[in-house]
Amino acid sequence: MPSPVVPSRAQPADVLQSVFGHDTFRPYQERIVRRLLNGQHAVVIMPTGGGKSLCYQLPALMRDGVGIVVSPLIALMEDQVAALRQRGVSAAVINSGQSTDERRAVEQQLVDGTLDLCYVAPERIMRPRFQRLLHCATVALLAIDEAHCISQWGHDFRPEYLQLSELRTAFPEVPCIAVTATADAPTQQSIVQRLHLDDDALFVAGFDRPNIRYTVVPKRRNARTQLLRFLNREHPHGAGIVYCLSRKRVEQTAEWLSAQGRTAVPYHAGLSDEQRAAHQERFLHADDLVVVATVAFGMGINKPDVRFVAHLDVPKTLEAYYQETGRAGRDGEPASAWMAYRLADIVRMHRFIDDGAANDFSRRQHQKLDALFGYCESTACRRTVLLGYFDETYPHARCDNCDNCLQPPHTWQGTEAAQKVLSCIARTEQRFGAAHIADVLTGSNTKKIRQHGHDALPTHGVGDNRPKRAWRSIIRQLVAKGLIRVDMAGYGALQLDPSCAPVLRGETAVELRRPSKAPVAPAAADSERPSHGPERDLFDALRETRAALAKAQEVPPYVIFHDKTLWAMVEKRPATLADFRRLPGVGDMKQKRYGPDFLEALADF
Ligand code: ADP
Ligand code: ZN
Repeated sequence: MPSPVVPSRAQPADVLQSVFGHDTFRPYQERIVRRLLNGQHAVVIMPTGGGKSLCYQLPALMRDGVGIVVSPLIALMEDQVAALRQRGVSAAVINSGQSTDERRAVEQQLVDGTLDLCYVAPERIMRPRFQRLLHCATVALLAIDEAHCISQWGHDFRPEYLQLSELRTAFPEVPCIAVTATADAPTQQSIVQRLHLDDDALFVAGFDRPNIRYTVVPKRRNARTQLLRFLNREHPHGAGIVYCLSRKRVEQTAEWLSAQGRTAVPYHAGLSDEQRAAHQERFLHADDLVVVATVAFGMGINKPDVRFVAHLDVPKTLEAYYQETGRAGRDGEPASAWMAYRLADIVRMHRFIDDGAANDFSRRQHQKLDALFGYCESTACRRTVLLGYFDETYPHARCDNCDNCLQPPHTWQGTEAAQKVLSCIARTEQRFGAAHIADVLTGSNTKKIRQHGHDALPTHGVGDNRPKRAWRSIIRQLVAKGLIRVDMAGYGALQLDPSCAPVLRGETAVELRRPSKAPVAPAAADSERPSHGPERDLFDALRETRAALAKAQEVPPYVIFHDKTLWAMVEKRPATLADFRRLPGVGDMKQKRYGPDFLEALADF
């Protein structure tokens, strides 16, 4: 028997509407759902927020029996179960956080056949007790979340995932679906092999996150102020994550943001377990909290309405950047990835790499940092560069949702400026970093300059027509072009690369980018939500209604409705339950449960 929430003789599209409240399938979803309904298997590589969970939840409801979902992340399992129950689906979780009584109750439901979906931690699944239960139950399908964990090539290999091969052998007839957001080609292949599937089961939806707007800015002396300006302009409301490299900077930044009137809490390994758990919990339940964190924060968190991810320090690689920024906008609503960088940060990251055994591994790490720096300095569409790094060709010339597309940088003939920089480096014997070179060019009178007699050089002051900031930008661009090398062992001293000779001789021209003065304009009015005015007030009122309902049930607000549904209420102003049912994300159950409360809030406004 299919789930009781599935109307009789329903097609997948009907269930999508009545249970999930969505009008149409996202790309790939329908094909994958139909495969599973036909008893076939699927391996799904789809970006975060692409709608992977629906690919197994919907067919699990339509097929006889219970869908077993293996997931390593407890918080994520609990969120999904809570969200399913909100839709009237009978869902439960078995994990180590439960009491024996709680677990027994779920096991009984499994045997009785009253569950539609059961989430299980991987280490539980091969235990004899659970195996016996599974053999008594009817299993509708087997879903494996975070499937890259099964591969030694994946970035998060988990030995307990290897047992899932045996599970497949034990239930060969049960359709199996493995999903993940992060798997390169070798990882994809090993998922297919370990689960004994065929290549035709593979669906690769690519990496693009169209709702994330990428912005990268050169870091100034006071990077926090840059961050605050960005937040005030583009995200005066909303939850977000700010990444910093060190605990100290995390603490200072959180304190400073709070002093500026933006509620922020720190998160790093130096806090007690209780403090960290409390801050994470607060983040999940609040709409407006900023968490300032070292990179450890965010793994296994499924908060769909993170509106921005900001990097005050550069990540280690573009993979890490993609993962960390990917925590923004899982709900598909507009979100931002903002990063401030400077050459010195990149140099420092190079120095962190252990060159002890100058092997392939450390060489690759250096290359990865170069790629990250290339991304920062790129004048091309950021999305094109980022996807290109993952060997994906972005099918359009520009995305119109990154800083370089929205405000194309102007280029200028920089050959003469490049020559000045190169000869200044040569005259100072290739022993100094970018800051000093910029000081010499602009004719500064620092102690270091006097000490080394650099005020007597012919290049001293030849660049006083430009501010230091402009020279530093030029230097970064010359590094990115490979004309200058940074000596990692020599504490970031700039050195000439042989390829700069034709530039010095005037045989090769150098095109440079003008640093953009104006910040990128906020998103176009039609795609951005208003941050003040009557519509925002109504949205805030609806958020309060949602918060009260969430609190009463002890679930995070996004489990009741995503922001998208609230904004649709603001726009459509439903007056009847029938109107309410037509909102995105409203199925039969949520119409019944929440329609009256929200209609009242709308009428009161
Ligand atoms: P993933 O697991 O791939 O990160 P989710 O399954 O959590 O993504 O879905 C991300 C968001 O997209 C959720 O808000 C979900 O409700 C929404 N969503 C999924 N499928 C559809 C669809 N067909 N139409 C509209 N929204 C959808
Ligand atoms: Zn772009």
